[in-house]
Amino acid sequence: MRKAVFPGSFDPITLGHFDIIKRSIRLFDEIVIAIGVNAEKKYMFSLEDRKRFIEETFKDEPSVSVITYEGLTIDLCNKLKAAFILRGLRNPADFEFEKAIAHTNRKLSGIETVFLLTAADTSYISSSIVRDVIRNGGEYEMLVPKAVRIK
Ligand code: ADP
Repeated sequence: MRKAVFPGSFDPITLGHFDIIKRSIRLFDEIVIAIGVNAEKKYMFSLEDRKRFIEETFKDEPSVSVITYEGLTIDLCNKLKAAFILRGLRNPADFEFEKAIAHTNRKLSGIETVFLLTAADTSYISSSIVRDVIRNGGEYEMLVPKAVRIK
């Protein structure tokens, strides 16, 4: 059974995340999207909203589930018996950042990180840019799945 954890803030989920998750469905039997809770970070969307957006987006994909967690991602993987961490790579900056974390995680736990290169047409999208567009009243709808809507 190939089980992967896809950790992130998902504040909010974007079409970039969507692309990575969709493409990973045929690689893994089960994908747990894990929304990390960091008490020191300020979020635009509540944890409940971030979770709901993802649940609605993948409601027809039985192998995809969503949870929230605190603490180390490797501890979560061990608890869930997931042997893989899934991450997306957009650019060299992502690679440099992710490389150190992936090496550390494998050193500490043996858990492998699997990277998917983002699709060319979503590689420029980030949650922080989406938040900026929203704050300034722009057309964020074309950057996120349909479930992400501001009330
Ligand atoms: P974090 O706070 O952990 O970076 P994010 O929600 O921003 O959380 O990102 C979670 C994962 O999704 C990371 O692996 C990131 O590289 C990936 N990701 C974010 N945006 C995109 C995108 N446009 N295309 C592909 N992967 C992406």
